[in-house]
This record gives sequence, structure tokens and C-alpha cells, in this order.
Amino acid sequence: MQLNDPTLLRSKAYINGKWTDAANGATYPVMNPATQERLADVTCCTADDTRAAIAAAEKAQPAWAARTGKERAAIMRKWFDLMMEHQDDLGMIMTLEQGKPLAEAKGEVAYAASFIEWFGEEAKRLYGDTIPQHRADNRILVIKQPIGVTAGITPWNFPAAMITRKAGPALASGCAMVVKPAQLTPLSALAMAELAERAGVPAGILSVVTGNNAREIGTELATNPTIRKLGFTGSTQVGKTLMEQAAGTVKKVSLELGGNAPFIVFDDADLDAAIEGTMISKFRNAGQTCVCANRIFVQDDIYDRYLDKLGAAVSALKVGNGLEEGVTIGPLIDEKAITKVESLVSSAKASGATTTLGGDPSPLGGSFYTPTILTGVNSDMEIANDEIFGPVASIIRFKDEKDAVRMANDTPYGLAAYFYSRDNARTWRVSEGLEYGMVGVNSGLISTEVAPFGGVKESGLGREGSHYGMDEWVELKYICIGGI
Ligand code: ADP
Repeated sequence: MQLNDPTLLRSKAYINGKWTDAANGATYPVMNPATQERLADVTCCTADDTRAAIAAAEKAQPAWAARTGKERAAIMRKWFDLMMEHQDDLGMIMTLEQGKPLAEAKGEVAYAASFIEWFGEEAKRLYGDTIPQHRADNRILVIKQPIGVTAGITPWNFPAAMITRKAGPALASGCAMVVKPAQLTPLSALAMAELAERAGVPAGILSVVTGNNAREIGTELATNPTIRKLGFTGSTQVGKTLMEQAAGTVKKVSLELGGNAPFIVFDDADLDAAIEGTMISKFRNAGQTCVCANRIFVQDDIYDRYLDKLGAAVSALKVGNGLEEGVTIGPLIDEKAITKVESLVSSAKASGATTTLGGDPSPLGGSFYTPTILTGVNSDMEIANDEIFGPVASIIRFKDEKDAVRMANDTPYGLAAYFYSRDNARTWRVSEGLEYGMVGVNSGLISTEVAPFGGVKESGLGREGSHYGMDEWVELKYICIGGI
């Protein structure tokens, strides 16, 4: 591995400011999904190690919270600068462990860093409020205080950004955080911890507890009474378990869970823009994002032209190792992911869908999958009800707007939705009618640190990013001053 700064490649857990082995000495291998090569043997922490990180956070947090917002902001700015300075190395580490093309990985590093920058700036603006009193001799104040010791549990599809979306606001507001990165992608998390330390984040304020025993570490984080807030991004199933576990100590939780994003192309759409949006929303990260277009609804009149253009765009994708020049689709994360995509595609075909492009594992073998277009899909098929998490565009034809919105909402999920239209009245109607936390209108890429990311229904609770994202990591305290 060619890194400019090889010390960014860490394999031990980062607990209380120290690179730490598990108490029992255990490690587990982290693999490159493109080559199946072993990248590192990483510390496999136990519940005991997790408790040590939580205890360190508890000890360190009051002094961190007591610093001024400006002091915390200065450290976070430095962390941001270091991430951008090491963007190439962080991108390389990410591509090696996660598979996404290097350009995308570097893009994620910049996106991840933007949360550190943005929330660091917000540290200076954690304003409270005064409320006109209800009695002449009282005064009413509202202040915002950090929740305290917090936990973050994050997935493998965005190994850097899902951490900073949580750690950014947590640290900015004066919380400490114990992060459990996904077992498949701990190296990005550890490299960021190294840079946080160099930036001056004090020992104990950000620990990274690695391991392939997610249940053991996760249960400790979700049940330990010292943890007052848990931020999770991952599957709906695990999110529900964590929410149940967190109920035992009434922790605040924010959950960013699965999606089943509709992408609706109305017949008044700008077709080229819709194709561009489809490509970015569907095929980014080889289709492995929770906001990826999962069901593409295309209106009758535009259907044939849309499919022609989509076919040309999808044919131009290049599958391969994300480190190779020009590759736009990396491997899927592992064998399980391939098996799932294959089973969804074959079950859709068995129910009458047709592959107009692809439909097979790639000749490259491993966990590479050929970009695929599947037509003739309907709402009853499994592929329209489950997150595909692969490079398969699943197309459903529709007649009118009402139908499209009804079908789009016919799911327990409600994370992101997209639609393309140039009709102003329709833009309002459909934006308001979609039961989703985020709606992209004529835009297939809506994630930014300045806007609130999050879902409704079984897609989650709470928002990440923007000033709303800061609220998730603070408590309001009402102070009533009497006797005036
Ligand atoms: P994904 O499909 O993105 O892997 P998961 O929900 O399985 O979604 O994983 C998201 C994160 O949750 C990862 O860090 C994973 O290790 C963790 N995780 C998985 N199972 C559990 C569990 N039972 N308790 C706590 N965390 C878990």
C-alpha cells in the first residue's frame, strides 16, 4: 500500500488516546473486497475494552465541555485541515477496505471532513434563548448543554462520513464519543482518529473501538448507563434492536436506517438531467447507499426514450478495482452482497421482469457485479420491497402522477425520494405528497453538511447535518430565576 504517510494505517483500537490491544489480545482480518487480500489484523475489542473507552470518555468529557466553543472549534478546524491535507491517503485506505473507486473515496473524505468543519464552526453558535416570563418576579432562560458521553455505531458503505456526521456535532457541542466502526471498514476510522489526536482532540474524547463482534460491543454501548446518547447508521433490523436495548436506560437515540428510495421520472422531465440524476443516485458506490434509487418509476410517454438513454449511460460504466484509472463501479462489499443481489434479480425475473442489460455477476469474479437494468418490475416483487444495495436499476412503468406517488409511498421506509419534473405546481404537490425525510427535485445527489439528512417511518429518527443535526447532541435546560 503506497501511502504518503504510512503512520495513518493503524490496526489497534484507539482508546483513551492510546493505540490499544484487546485485553484478550484478539484480532481479526480486514480484507480488500476487490482482491480478497488481507489488509491488516485489527484489534477485536471485547465488552471490557468498550467499558474502558466509556470510562475514559466519562472522565474526559467535563473538561472538554468546559472549554469555550471557540477552543473546540479551533481543534476541529485543525482536524478538518489535516483530513484535507491527507485526503489522498484517506481515500486510498478507504478504497482498499471498502472498494469504492478512488475518486469517490476522496470525495467521501472531503464530505466527511466538511462535517468536522461545519459543526466546529457551530460550536461557537450554540445559542440559548430567553422567554418572556409568566410572572413579574421570574425570568426564564433556556440553555443548551452537551448530552455527555455518547456512542456512534456506523456502517461500511461510508466508512468516514457516517462517523463525522455524528462525531462532528457531538464533539462541537462538548460531548465525548465512543465510535464502533463497521467491522469491514475500521481502517478509515482509525486513520481519522490518528488525525484527531494530531489536531489536539484530548484523550478519551474520541475513542474507536474496533471488532468483528458487533453484538458484544454494540450491546455494551446501547445498555451502559454512562452513555446518554446513541447515534446509529445501518440496517433497520439492527436499529430496532439498539433502540430496544437503549430503552433500558432511556437513552436518546438517532437512527439512520434502511431506505427504499423511489426515483420518479415524469413525462415533463428534462430527460438528460433525469438520466444524469439516475446514474448518480443509482450507481454511486455500486448502488450501496441507503439513499440509492431503489425503484425507478418512469411515466408512459417518456418510457422508451428514457430506457434508450439509460442503456447507453449504464453501458459506459466501467467495473473493476477502484484503484484503477477510469473505474466507476467497484466490487460489492462481500460475497453475501452478491448473493443477495443475485437472488433479488432472479426472483424478479421469475415473476416476469426482464434484464435489458447485465443481470450477471461480472466476468471479473469475486464480488464484482455487472451494472444491470431490469424492466417490467412491479410493486409486488421482492426487488421493489427490499433494499437492493447493488448496481441494478429496477424500472417500474406508470401512467399518472397519483399512481406514482401512491406506489412511491407504499413502503415502510421513508428516507430519500427523487423526482424529475419541470412543472412548478407538480413540484409542490409531489414534494409535499411524498412521505420521505428528504426529496430531491431534479437532483440525484442531495447530501450536504448544511442540510438535515434523515428519514421518517422505519427509516429512522433524528437528523444529521445542519443546525438541526446539532440539536441531536444537546439537551435543553430551562432555568427559572425567581425572586426578582
Ligand atoms: P449493514 O447492512 O450496513 O452492514 P448493519 O446494521 O448490519 O448494516 O451494520 C451497521 C453497524 O451496526 C455496523 O457497525 C455493525 O457492526 C453494527 N451491528 C451489527 N449488528 C449489531 C448488533 N447486534 N448490535 C450492535 N451493532 C451491530
